[in-house]
Amino acid sequence: MEKEQSIYYYYLISCRDELVKHSYIGKTQNFELRKQHHKYHCNDSKYPQHNYKLYKTIRKYGGFLNFKIELIYEVHGLSRQEACEFERALYDEYRPSLNNNIPNRSYKEYIRDNYKQILIKRKDRENCFWCQKSVLKSHMKNHRKSKKCLLKKTKKLKNEILDKLQIK
Ligand SMILES: [Zn+2]
Repeated sequence: MEKEQSIYYYYLISCRDELVKHSYIGKTQNFELRKQHHKYHCNDSKYPQHNYKLYKTIRKYGGFLNFKIELIYEVHGLSRQEACEFERALYDEYRPSLNNNIPNRSYKEYIRDNYKQILIKRKDRENCFWCQKSVLKSHMKNHRKSKKCLLKKTKKLKNEILDKLQIK
């Protein structure tokens, strides 16, 4: 199979209001342009996409500005076919409510089968306040509940108290 060696960007659309659980996974080769298209499709009824479930839902929950589009992966070296497979694999990880396609392979299986051939860069990371580990922003909540992080947190808080009391 011919490899196109192009870069694919995968993104997550979710509501800024965390109580609204709807989300959408998309892929593109031009992230900035794709974001613009989402905006036009959502706001302008002249586009046939305007009545997609995605845009109806966005309009229902406060409109385009109440949603964020986060880059979650930048992947190099995929053929077009593989890029679609990877996208479907992400559905398994994020379980977006606004995508119509059905996943055919789990994310873990996908990584296991492909990790040697492709370069996957996770995006939008931040350092955990408690343990300094670099964590994907969308996973930070779960990370903070992990045993390792909780231990670091407890230790840090304890040290702060001991410092205040000047006993160590
Ligand atoms: Zn942590």
